Amino acid sequence: MTLHFLAGYVLGEHGKQSARLAAQSRAPGSASSEALYDVEDRIDRLILIMAAMWDLLKEQGLTEQDLQERIAQLDQADGTADGKFTAQGTVCRACGAKVGPGLVACQFCGVEVGAAAAPGVFDGV
Ligand SMILES: [Zn+2]
Repeated sequence: MTLHFLAGYVLGEHGKQSARLAAQSRAPGSASSEALYDVEDRIDRLILIMAAMWDLLKEQGLTEQDLQERIAQLDQADGTADGKFTAQGTVCRACGAKVGPGLVACQFCGVEVGAAAAPGVFDGV
């Protein structure tokens, strides 16, 4: 049941994106058609990752209530309880500019804002 909840949580937004891309698709092989397949692949990978993570967590004794409470916390952590987790950037210590999430250096002055993260399970998703 929880996996379906999580899948629905992900598919809620990605499902909208997929529908939008499908509506824009004019012909097989078009750029938007290929983007739709990419989104579907990403969703399938996310569902697989979520299923594996949830299996591991249940083995450690966590419950669905634990999971739903953490989802609510993470949802709120980006400043808006909107059912989405939006990656946050950081602030450049040299110039004070907001540096986008995923960047290792300030896009304005080039100062490194953090070490490159080690490869993670969500890379490429
Ligand atoms: Zn900077």
